[in-house]
Amino acid sequence: GDEFALLISRSQMSGRLLKFVDDLTHALKQPLSYNKTDVQCGASIGVRRIESSATDVSALMKEADLALLSAKSGGGGVWKEYSEGFKARIRGQRELAQDLAKAIETNSLKLQYQPIVDAKTGAVTGVEALSRWYHPVRGTVSPSEFIPIAEDNGIIIELGDRVIENVIESAVEMPANTKIGINISPLQLHSSRILSVIQQKLNDTGFDPCRVELEITESVFLSDNAFILDRLRKLKGSGVRIAMDDFGTGVSSLAYLQRFPFDNFKLEHAFVSVIETSDQSRAIARATISMAHARKLTGTAEGVENDMQARFLREQGCDELQGFLFSRPQDQAALIPYLRSMEMVHEAKSSKGDNVVEMKRT
Ligand code: C2E
Ligand code: MG
Ligand code: MG
Repeated sequence: GDEFALLISRSQMSGRLLKFVDDLTHALKQPLSYNKTDVQCGASIGVRRIESSATDVSALMKEADLALLSAKSGGGGVWKEYSEGFKARIRGQRELAQDLAKAIETNSLKLQYQPIVDAKTGAVTGVEALSRWYHPVRGTVSPSEFIPIAEDNGIIIELGDRVIENVIESAVEMPANTKIGINISPLQLHSSRILSVIQQKLNDTGFDPCRVELEITESVFLSDNAFILDRLRKLKGSGVRIAMDDFGTGVSSLAYLQRFPFDNFKLEHAFVSVIETSDQSRAIARATISMAHARKLTGTAEGVENDMQARFLREQGCDELQGFLFSRPQDQAALIPYLRSMEMVHEAKSSKGDNVVEMKRT
């Protein structure tokens, strides 16, 4: 549908060939005028140089395709030339996908929970559930690596179902009022199973739905918005909260997102981490928080690592803070005693009248 092959015949002039591919990539990036509108397209190019002895056309096309995949993987708009290393990498990824499918099937992915605190009082208001995969040979594989693999291989739905079920089951043991954030992949949101899986688990456990906060990212809005709006409304109808995760990295403005039923905006770590040095990040953080409040929504800052960041965000009226400054993600076994001890600290502070302001913005 959207792939083209170009056969270029050159004899012994590889320098000119690569210059041609460079020029082609550049030319394809130029805006086109269509119906009085400028349309910006672009292309990724996979290059396979053919030796005169090569005869297996289908193998060569597959190899050109591997180069194309590699060109696309970094965001596209570039060209890559095929090398033997590509095959090994693809094989490695395929094996990893198979191992991941097995880990999901045997329910052996683990969960860690990172506490989220009230910016004013320091009391723990909730936790975010984060999936962990300990591979027997490769060791710890980060979710930033295995979630995209699960998405590419259609196993994210299975993974997401397990996460929802396991998180709600574990959450029953957490102190009342602890909110539970669950990351939801855009593909999961498109699957009709999400509604029934959540509903079923809430019914089985009797867990209060308003303690569940589904975290979705802006990439959800790259597709059919009417469908997404309807899906989010149905989820909200089951009583759960919806958060916009990693806010600020995408292209949507709060004004655009206002039609969707969010309860909370999570300010992306990338802004928080440069608050001390970047005027622009400070301005974005400030604007996000005040616009969220104007819409009667709450704001959570992610990736808070030092006191200066926490102070600035608190001064801007940010509602909740999350980051290594407060706690790293923890296993459930460590989390429950941690939450109880934090509750006790907070109660002691309250009874001494230490500057405890209202617990939660509604
Ligand atoms: P996220 O939802 O934005 O989660 C926050 C990430 O920031 C976590 O990375 C967390 O460990 C990290 N983090 C928290 N505080 C700090 C800090 O102070 N400094 C720094 N440098 N990092 C901090 P993690 O666990 O590696 O997860 C990465 C991403 O993978 C998550 O980003 C989320 O998008 C995705 N993910 C994790 N678990 C799941 C899951 O069960 N399902 C889906 N669909 N996605 C998941
Ligand atoms: Mg998240
Ligand atoms: Mg995030």
